[in-house]
Amino acid sequence: MTKYDYIILGAGAAGLMLAYRISQDGFFDGKQVLIIDKLKDKGNDRTWCFWEEGEGEWDDLLTKTWPKIFFGSDNYSETIDIMPYHYKMIRSDKFYKSLWEFISTNKNITFLEDVVDSYTELKDGVQVITNKGRYFGLKLFSSILNPEVYKSQKKYPVLQQHFLGWFVKTNEDVFDETTATFMDFTVPQNGNTRFMYVLPIDKKTALFEYTLFSKHHLKRSDYENAISKYLEDKGLSDFDIIEKESGSIPMTSFKFSQLNSTHILHIGTAGAWTKASTGYTFNNTSKKTKDLVLFLKQEKDLSKFYKKSKFWFYDLIFLDVLANHNEEGAALFSSMFRKGNIKTIFKFLDEESTLLGDLKIILSVPPKRFIQAFFKRLF
Ligand SMILES: Cc1cc2nc3c(=O)[nH]c(=O)nc-3n(C[C@H](O)[C@H](O)[C@H](O)COP(=O)(O)OP(=O)(O)OC[C@H]3O[C@@H](n4cnc5c(N)ncnc54)[C@H](O)[C@@H]3O)c2cc1C
Repeated sequence: MTKYDYIILGAGAAGLMLAYRISQDGFFDGKQVLIIDKLKDKGNDRTWCFWEEGEGEWDDLLTKTWPKIFFGSDNYSETIDIMPYHYKMIRSDKFYKSLWEFISTNKNITFLEDVVDSYTELKDGVQVITNKGRYFGLKLFSSILNPEVYKSQKKYPVLQQHFLGWFVKTNEDVFDETTATFMDFTVPQNGNTRFMYVLPIDKKTALFEYTLFSKHHLKRSDYENAISKYLEDKGLSDFDIIEKESGSIPMTSFKFSQLNSTHILHIGTAGAWTKASTGYTFNNTSKKTKDLVLFLKQEKDLSKFYKKSKFWFYDLIFLDVLANHNEEGAALFSSMFRKGNIKTIFKFLDEESTLLGDLKIILSVPPKRFIQAFFKRLF
Protein backbone atom coordinates (compact mmCIF):
# COMPACT_ATOMS: atom_id res chain seq x y z
CA MET A 1 0.00 0.00 0.00
CA THR A 2 1.37 3.45 -0.96
CA LYS A 3 2.03 5.69 2.05
CA TYR A 4 1.58 9.46 2.19
CA ASP A 5 2.13 12.12 4.82
CA TYR A 6 -1.13 13.82 3.92
CA ILE A 7 -4.13 12.66 1.94
CA ILE A 8 -6.64 15.30 0.84
CA LEU A 9 -10.07 14.03 -0.19
CA GLY A 10 -11.83 16.37 -2.61
CA ALA A 11 -10.17 18.99 -4.80
CA GLY A 12 -12.87 21.63 -4.53
CA ALA A 13 -12.50 24.98 -2.78
CA ALA A 14 -11.19 23.62 0.53
CA GLY A 15 -9.04 20.72 -0.73
CA LEU A 16 -7.40 22.81 -3.43
CA MET A 17 -6.75 25.78 -1.16
CA LEU A 18 -5.14 23.48 1.38
CA ALA A 19 -2.94 21.82 -1.26
CA TYR A 20 -2.05 25.27 -2.63
CA ARG A 21 -0.98 26.54 0.79
CA ILE A 22 1.03 23.37 1.46
CA SER A 23 2.80 23.87 -1.91
CA GLN A 24 3.56 27.49 -1.07
CA ASP A 25 5.24 26.70 2.24
CA GLY A 26 8.81 25.34 2.39
CA PHE A 27 8.03 23.57 5.67
CA PHE A 28 6.17 20.90 3.70
CA ASP A 29 8.85 20.40 1.03
CA GLY A 30 9.62 16.79 1.92
CA LYS A 31 6.02 15.76 2.52
CA GLN A 32 4.28 13.35 0.18
CA VAL A 33 0.73 14.49 -0.54
CA LEU A 34 -2.06 12.65 -2.33
CA ILE A 35 -5.18 14.47 -3.55
CA ILE A 36 -8.16 12.35 -4.59
CA ASP A 37 -11.21 13.67 -6.41
CA LYS A 38 -13.77 11.87 -8.53
CA LEU A 39 -13.54 14.70 -11.09
CA LYS A 40 -10.60 17.03 -11.67
CA ASP A 41 -11.97 19.32 -14.33
CA LYS A 42 -15.19 20.73 -12.92
CA GLY A 43 -15.27 23.93 -14.97
CA ASN A 44 -17.55 26.75 -13.91
CA ASP A 45 -19.62 24.66 -11.54
CA ARG A 46 -19.97 27.56 -9.08
CA THR A 47 -19.74 31.31 -8.82
CA TRP A 48 -18.21 32.34 -5.52
CA CYS A 49 -18.86 35.74 -3.99
CA PHE A 50 -17.67 37.22 -0.74
CA TRP A 51 -17.08 40.62 0.80
CA GLU A 52 -13.58 41.74 1.71
CA GLU A 53 -12.00 44.88 3.09
CA GLY A 54 -9.47 46.36 0.64
CA GLU A 55 -7.23 44.20 -1.49
CA GLY A 56 -7.16 40.42 -1.10
CA GLU A 57 -5.22 37.30 -1.97
CA TRP A 58 -7.55 36.20 -4.77
CA ASP A 59 -7.88 39.60 -6.49
CA ASP A 60 -6.06 38.43 -9.64
CA LEU A 61 -8.76 35.80 -10.17
CA LEU A 62 -11.78 38.07 -9.77
CA THR A 63 -14.37 38.36 -12.51
CA LYS A 64 -15.99 41.39 -10.94
CA THR A 65 -16.11 43.57 -7.82
CA TRP A 66 -18.86 45.87 -6.58
CA PRO A 67 -18.46 48.84 -4.23
CA LYS A 68 -22.21 48.91 -3.50
CA ILE A 69 -24.92 46.41 -2.67
CA PHE A 70 -28.68 46.68 -2.83
CA PHE A 71 -30.97 45.30 -0.15
CA GLY A 72 -34.67 45.16 -1.01
CA SER A 73 -37.88 44.26 0.81
CA ASP A 74 -41.48 45.48 0.98
CA ASN A 75 -40.84 47.86 3.88
CA TYR A 76 -37.16 48.75 3.50
CA SER A 77 -34.95 49.06 0.44
CA GLU A 78 -31.59 50.71 0.10
CA THR A 79 -28.47 50.85 -2.04
CA ILE A 80 -25.58 50.69 0.42
CA ASP A 81 -22.05 51.95 -0.13
CA ILE A 82 -19.93 49.18 1.43
CA MET A 83 -16.50 50.84 1.13
CA PRO A 84 -13.85 50.04 2.38
CA TYR A 85 -15.36 46.62 1.63
CA HIS A 86 -15.93 45.27 -1.85
CA TYR A 87 -18.24 42.48 -2.85
CA LYS A 88 -16.07 40.18 -5.01
CA MET A 89 -16.83 37.45 -7.52
CA ILE A 90 -14.67 34.51 -8.61
CA ARG A 91 -15.79 31.97 -11.16
CA SER A 92 -14.63 28.50 -10.21
CA ASP A 93 -13.04 27.48 -13.53
CA LYS A 94 -10.40 30.21 -13.26
CA PHE A 95 -9.84 29.41 -9.59
CA TYR A 96 -9.39 25.64 -10.15
CA LYS A 97 -7.07 26.19 -13.16
CA SER A 98 -4.92 28.75 -11.43
CA LEU A 99 -4.45 26.70 -8.26
CA TRP A 100 -3.81 23.48 -10.19
CA GLU A 101 -1.19 25.25 -12.29
CA PHE A 102 0.69 26.12 -9.13
CA ILE A 103 0.13 22.80 -7.33
CA SER A 104 1.24 20.76 -10.37
CA THR A 105 4.75 22.23 -10.14
CA ASN A 106 5.17 20.44 -6.80
CA LYS A 107 6.61 16.99 -7.52
CA ASN A 108 5.59 15.71 -4.08
CA ILE A 109 1.90 16.19 -4.78
CA THR A 110 0.12 13.38 -6.61
CA PHE A 111 -3.41 13.62 -7.96
CA LEU A 112 -5.70 10.65 -8.38
CA GLU A 113 -9.01 10.87 -10.23
CA ASP A 114 -11.05 8.26 -8.41
CA VAL A 115 -14.14 7.79 -6.26
CA VAL A 116 -13.51 7.47 -2.52
CA ASP A 117 -15.54 4.63 -1.00
CA SER A 118 -14.49 4.88 2.64
CA TYR A 119 -11.75 5.81 5.06
CA THR A 120 -10.84 4.35 8.43
CA GLU A 121 -8.67 5.60 11.25
CA LEU A 122 -5.87 3.23 12.22
CA LYS A 123 -3.50 3.46 15.18
CA ASP A 124 -0.88 5.49 13.34
CA GLY A 125 -2.78 6.98 10.42
CA VAL A 126 -5.69 6.53 8.05
CA GLN A 127 -6.57 4.05 5.34
CA VAL A 128 -8.54 5.26 2.32
CA ILE A 129 -10.33 2.88 -0.01
CA THR A 130 -11.26 4.06 -3.47
CA ASN A 131 -12.72 2.32 -6.51
CA LYS A 132 -9.21 1.67 -7.77
CA GLY A 133 -7.11 1.04 -4.70
CA ARG A 134 -6.08 1.44 -1.09
CA TYR A 135 -3.93 4.27 0.30
CA PHE A 136 -2.38 5.01 3.65
CA GLY A 137 -1.84 8.50 5.05
CA LEU A 138 -0.46 9.77 8.33
CA LYS A 139 -3.09 12.50 8.21
CA LEU A 140 -6.31 12.82 6.27
CA PHE A 141 -8.22 15.97 5.30
CA SER A 142 -11.64 15.23 3.95
CA SER A 143 -13.93 17.68 2.17
CA ILE A 144 -16.30 14.92 1.10
CA LEU A 145 -19.65 15.81 2.57
CA ASN A 146 -21.86 13.03 3.86
CA PRO A 147 -25.34 14.60 4.26
CA GLU A 148 -26.51 11.53 6.21
CA VAL A 149 -24.54 12.63 9.27
CA TYR A 150 -26.54 15.83 9.77
CA LYS A 151 -29.82 14.69 8.23
CA SER A 152 -30.09 11.69 10.52
CA GLN A 153 -29.98 13.75 13.74
CA LYS A 154 -32.74 15.82 15.30
CA LYS A 155 -30.81 17.98 17.77
CA TYR A 156 -29.88 20.75 15.33
CA PRO A 157 -32.06 22.20 12.60
CA VAL A 158 -31.03 21.59 9.01
CA LEU A 159 -32.01 24.09 6.35
CA GLN A 160 -30.64 24.46 2.85
CA GLN A 161 -29.59 27.53 0.97
CA HIS A 162 -30.87 26.36 -2.39
CA PHE A 163 -30.93 28.29 -5.60
CA LEU A 164 -31.04 28.28 -9.35
CA GLY A 165 -29.60 31.07 -11.44
CA TRP A 166 -29.63 32.31 -15.01
CA PHE A 167 -26.81 34.27 -16.57
CA VAL A 168 -28.70 36.54 -18.95
CA LYS A 169 -27.36 38.64 -21.79
CA THR A 170 -29.30 41.60 -23.18
CA ASN A 171 -28.86 43.57 -26.40
CA GLU A 172 -29.13 46.94 -24.70
CA ASP A 173 -27.20 48.40 -21.77
CA VAL A 174 -29.64 47.78 -18.92
CA PHE A 175 -27.73 46.77 -15.78
CA ASP A 176 -26.13 49.00 -13.18
CA GLU A 177 -22.79 47.22 -12.93
CA THR A 178 -21.74 49.14 -9.82
CA THR A 179 -24.30 47.47 -7.55
CA ALA A 180 -24.86 43.83 -6.64
CA THR A 181 -28.32 42.94 -5.36
CA PHE A 182 -27.43 41.15 -2.14
CA MET A 183 -30.99 40.16 -1.20
CA ASP A 184 -34.24 41.29 -2.78
CA PHE A 185 -37.13 40.01 -0.66
CA THR A 186 -39.82 41.68 -2.77
CA VAL A 187 -40.48 38.30 -4.42
CA PRO A 188 -43.51 36.40 -3.01
CA GLN A 189 -42.41 34.58 0.14
CA ASN A 190 -45.01 31.75 -0.01
CA GLY A 191 -44.32 30.77 3.60
CA ASN A 192 -40.53 30.67 3.21
CA THR A 193 -37.47 32.91 3.20
CA ARG A 194 -37.08 33.66 -0.50
CA PHE A 195 -35.07 36.32 -2.29
CA MET A 196 -33.51 37.24 -5.59
CA TYR A 197 -29.73 37.68 -5.79
CA VAL A 198 -28.50 39.66 -8.80
CA LEU A 199 -24.90 40.02 -9.91
CA PRO A 200 -24.44 42.38 -12.88
CA ILE A 201 -21.12 41.56 -14.53
CA ASP A 202 -21.36 44.34 -17.10
CA LYS A 203 -24.12 46.54 -18.50
CA LYS A 204 -25.48 43.68 -20.63
CA THR A 205 -24.77 40.58 -18.52
CA ALA A 206 -26.08 39.58 -15.11
CA LEU A 207 -26.66 36.50 -12.98
CA PHE A 208 -30.17 36.28 -11.50
CA GLU A 209 -30.33 33.69 -8.75
CA TYR A 210 -33.61 32.74 -7.09
CA THR A 211 -32.65 31.65 -3.57
CA LEU A 212 -34.36 30.14 -0.56
CA PHE A 213 -33.27 29.48 3.01
CA SER A 214 -35.66 26.63 3.76
CA LYS A 215 -35.91 22.94 4.54
CA HIS A 216 -37.05 21.59 1.18
CA HIS A 217 -35.98 22.01 -2.42
CA LEU A 218 -38.46 23.18 -5.05
CA LYS A 219 -39.21 21.76 -8.47
CA ARG A 220 -36.74 23.11 -11.01
CA SER A 221 -39.58 24.88 -12.84
CA ASP A 222 -40.49 26.81 -9.64
CA TYR A 223 -37.07 28.48 -9.52
CA GLU A 224 -37.15 29.20 -13.25
CA ASN A 225 -40.67 30.61 -13.21
CA ALA A 226 -39.70 32.91 -10.34
CA ILE A 227 -36.70 34.26 -12.30
CA SER A 228 -38.89 34.70 -15.38
CA LYS A 229 -41.46 36.65 -13.38
CA TYR A 230 -38.80 38.82 -11.73
CA LEU A 231 -37.27 39.73 -15.09
CA GLU A 232 -40.71 40.49 -16.47
CA ASP A 233 -41.47 42.74 -13.49
CA LYS A 234 -38.21 44.58 -14.15
CA GLY A 235 -39.32 45.12 -17.76
CA LEU A 236 -36.69 42.75 -19.18
CA SER A 237 -37.95 40.69 -22.09
CA ASP A 238 -35.20 40.93 -24.70
CA PHE A 239 -32.47 38.64 -23.37
CA ASP A 240 -30.75 35.29 -23.89
CA ILE A 241 -30.00 32.82 -21.12
CA ILE A 242 -26.32 32.07 -21.71
CA GLU A 243 -25.64 29.79 -18.73
CA LYS A 244 -27.35 28.32 -15.69
CA GLU A 245 -26.13 27.53 -12.20
CA SER A 246 -27.78 25.76 -9.32
CA GLY A 247 -26.80 24.53 -5.90
CA SER A 248 -27.76 23.63 -2.39
CA ILE A 249 -25.63 24.49 0.62
CA PRO A 250 -26.43 22.98 4.03
CA MET A 251 -27.23 25.48 6.78
CA THR A 252 -26.87 23.68 10.09
CA SER A 253 -25.21 23.96 13.48
CA PHE A 254 -24.60 20.22 13.50
CA LYS A 255 -21.24 19.65 15.21
CA PHE A 256 -19.15 18.44 12.29
CA SER A 257 -16.14 18.71 14.61
CA GLN A 258 -17.26 15.56 16.43
CA LEU A 259 -16.33 13.63 13.28
CA ASN A 260 -12.69 14.73 13.59
CA SER A 261 -10.06 12.60 15.30
CA THR A 262 -6.31 12.44 15.85
CA HIS A 263 -5.55 11.67 12.19
CA ILE A 264 -8.71 12.90 10.43
CA LEU A 265 -9.87 16.47 9.94
CA HIS A 266 -12.97 17.42 7.98
CA ILE A 267 -12.53 20.58 5.97
CA GLY A 268 -14.72 22.87 3.84
CA THR A 269 -18.48 22.43 4.12
CA ALA A 270 -17.84 18.94 5.53
CA GLY A 271 -15.84 20.57 8.33
CA ALA A 272 -18.37 23.29 9.26
CA TRP A 273 -16.46 25.97 7.38
CA THR A 274 -19.78 27.03 5.86
CA LYS A 275 -21.38 29.78 7.94
CA ALA A 276 -24.53 28.08 9.17
CA SER A 277 -26.69 31.20 9.05
CA THR A 278 -25.69 32.38 5.57
CA GLY A 279 -24.11 29.56 3.55
CA TYR A 280 -21.03 31.70 2.84
CA THR A 281 -17.94 29.47 2.81
CA PHE A 282 -15.31 30.71 0.38
CA ASN A 283 -13.62 33.43 2.41
CA ASN A 284 -13.78 31.41 5.59
CA THR A 285 -12.11 28.53 3.75
CA SER A 286 -9.35 30.90 2.72
CA LYS A 287 -8.79 31.90 6.36
CA LYS A 288 -9.13 28.37 7.78
CA THR A 289 -6.65 26.82 5.34
CA LYS A 290 -4.13 29.49 6.37
CA ASP A 291 -4.71 28.63 10.04
CA LEU A 292 -4.49 24.93 9.24
CA VAL A 293 -1.02 25.02 7.68
CA LEU A 294 0.23 26.92 10.75
CA PHE A 295 -1.45 24.36 12.99
CA LEU A 296 0.15 21.47 11.07
CA LYS A 297 3.57 22.84 11.93
CA GLN A 298 2.97 22.50 15.66
CA GLU A 299 0.17 20.09 16.52
CA LYS A 300 -0.17 16.40 15.87
CA ASP A 301 -3.71 15.78 17.04
CA LEU A 302 -6.09 17.06 14.33
CA SER A 303 -9.10 17.01 16.65
CA LYS A 304 -7.58 20.04 18.40
CA PHE A 305 -7.88 22.25 15.32
CA TYR A 306 -11.53 23.08 15.95
CA LYS A 307 -12.17 25.94 18.40
CA LYS A 308 -15.60 26.57 19.87
CA SER A 309 -16.92 30.12 19.50
CA LYS A 310 -19.91 32.23 20.53
CA PHE A 311 -20.87 32.50 16.86
CA TRP A 312 -21.79 28.82 16.77
CA PHE A 313 -24.48 29.55 19.36
CA TYR A 314 -25.70 32.73 17.59
CA ASP A 315 -26.09 30.74 14.38
CA LEU A 316 -27.91 27.98 16.19
CA ILE A 317 -30.49 30.40 17.62
CA PHE A 318 -30.88 32.09 14.24
CA LEU A 319 -31.44 28.75 12.50
CA ASP A 320 -33.92 27.67 15.19
CA VAL A 321 -35.93 30.81 14.42
CA LEU A 322 -35.67 30.34 10.67
CA ALA A 323 -36.54 26.65 10.87
CA ASN A 324 -39.65 27.23 12.99
CA HIS A 325 -40.79 30.53 11.42
CA ASN A 326 -39.45 30.25 7.90
CA GLU A 327 -41.90 32.86 6.63
CA GLU A 328 -40.34 35.54 8.88
CA GLY A 329 -36.88 35.61 7.29
CA ALA A 330 -37.64 38.66 5.14
CA ALA A 331 -38.71 40.68 8.20
CA LEU A 332 -35.64 39.58 10.17
CA PHE A 333 -33.16 40.49 7.47
CA SER A 334 -34.98 43.78 6.71
CA SER A 335 -34.82 44.81 10.32
CA MET A 336 -31.11 43.93 10.52
CA PHE A 337 -30.23 45.89 7.38
CA ARG A 338 -32.47 48.85 8.29
CA LYS A 339 -31.09 49.29 11.80
CA GLY A 340 -27.59 47.86 11.49
CA ASN A 341 -24.50 49.40 9.97
CA ILE A 342 -23.20 47.33 7.03
CA LYS A 343 -19.64 47.21 8.37
CA THR A 344 -20.90 45.88 11.72
CA ILE A 345 -23.03 43.31 9.88
CA PHE A 346 -20.04 42.14 7.80
CA LYS A 347 -17.80 41.93 10.89
CA PHE A 348 -20.51 39.95 12.68
CA LEU A 349 -20.98 37.54 9.78
CA ASP A 350 -17.20 37.20 9.47
CA GLU A 351 -17.18 36.20 13.15
CA GLU A 352 -14.82 39.06 13.94
CA SER A 353 -17.15 41.36 15.88
CA THR A 354 -16.69 42.53 19.44
CA LEU A 355 -19.36 41.92 22.09
CA LEU A 356 -20.59 45.48 21.49
CA GLY A 357 -20.89 44.74 17.76
CA ASP A 358 -22.72 41.50 18.52
CA LEU A 359 -25.13 43.38 20.75
CA LYS A 360 -25.86 45.95 18.03
CA ILE A 361 -26.80 43.16 15.62
CA ILE A 362 -28.80 41.22 18.21
CA LEU A 363 -30.77 44.36 19.11
CA SER A 364 -31.45 45.10 15.45
CA VAL A 365 -33.74 42.09 14.95
CA PRO A 366 -37.28 41.69 16.39
CA PRO A 367 -36.56 40.03 19.76
CA LYS A 368 -39.59 37.80 20.38
CA ARG A 369 -38.61 34.76 18.35
CA PHE A 370 -34.97 34.91 19.41
CA ILE A 371 -35.84 35.06 23.11
CA GLN A 372 -38.17 32.06 22.67
CA ALA A 373 -35.48 30.11 20.80
CA PHE A 374 -32.80 31.11 23.31
CA PHE A 375 -34.78 29.82 26.32
CA LYS A 376 -35.78 26.68 24.49
CA ARG A 377 -32.08 25.88 23.88
CA LEU A 378 -31.13 26.86 27.42
CA PHE A 379 -33.58 24.48 29.07
C1 LIG B 1 -23.32 26.59 -6.97
C2 LIG B 1 -22.70 27.04 -5.68
C3 LIG B 1 -22.42 28.37 -5.47
C4 LIG B 1 -21.84 28.80 -4.28
N1 LIG B 1 -21.58 30.13 -4.09
C5 LIG B 1 -20.97 30.54 -2.97
C6 LIG B 1 -20.62 31.91 -2.79
O1 LIG B 1 -20.98 32.77 -3.61
N2 LIG B 1 -19.93 32.27 -1.70
C7 LIG B 1 -19.54 31.36 -0.74
O2 LIG B 1 -18.87 31.73 0.22
N3 LIG B 1 -19.90 30.06 -0.86
C8 LIG B 1 -20.59 29.63 -1.94
N4 LIG B 1 -20.92 28.30 -2.08
C9 LIG B 1 -20.66 27.40 -0.95
C10 LIG B 1 -19.21 26.87 -0.91
O3 LIG B 1 -18.30 27.92 -1.03
C11 LIG B 1 -18.94 25.89 -1.98
O4 LIG B 1 -19.82 24.81 -1.92
C12 LIG B 1 -17.50 25.34 -1.90
O5 LIG B 1 -17.21 24.75 -3.11
C13 LIG B 1 -17.32 24.38 -0.76
O6 LIG B 1 -16.03 23.87 -0.80
P1 LIG B 1 -15.69 22.38 -0.37
O7 LIG B 1 -14.27 22.16 -0.68
O8 LIG B 1 -16.19 22.16 1.01
O9 LIG B 1 -16.62 21.47 -1.27
P2 LIG B 1 -16.52 21.22 -2.90
O10 LIG B 1 -15.94 22.45 -3.49
O11 LIG B 1 -17.84 20.77 -3.26
O12 LIG B 1 -15.41 20.08 -2.97
C14 LIG B 1 -15.68 18.75 -2.62
C15 LIG B 1 -14.99 17.87 -3.65
O13 LIG B 1 -15.13 16.52 -3.28
C16 LIG B 1 -15.28 15.74 -4.44
N5 LIG B 1 -15.96 14.50 -4.05
C17 LIG B 1 -17.18 14.37 -3.48
N6 LIG B 1 -17.46 13.07 -3.22
C18 LIG B 1 -16.36 12.37 -3.62
C19 LIG B 1 -16.02 10.99 -3.59
N7 LIG B 1 -16.82 10.05 -3.07
N8 LIG B 1 -14.82 10.62 -4.10
C20 LIG B 1 -13.97 11.54 -4.60
N9 LIG B 1 -14.23 12.86 -4.64
C21 LIG B 1 -15.42 13.27 -4.15
C22 LIG B 1 -16.11 16.61 -5.37
O14 LIG B 1 -15.93 16.24 -6.73
C23 LIG B 1 -15.56 18.00 -5.04
O15 LIG B 1 -14.56 18.40 -5.94
C24 LIG B 1 -21.54 27.86 -3.25
C25 LIG B 1 -21.86 26.52 -3.46
C26 LIG B 1 -22.45 26.11 -4.65
C27 LIG B 1 -22.80 24.65 -4.81
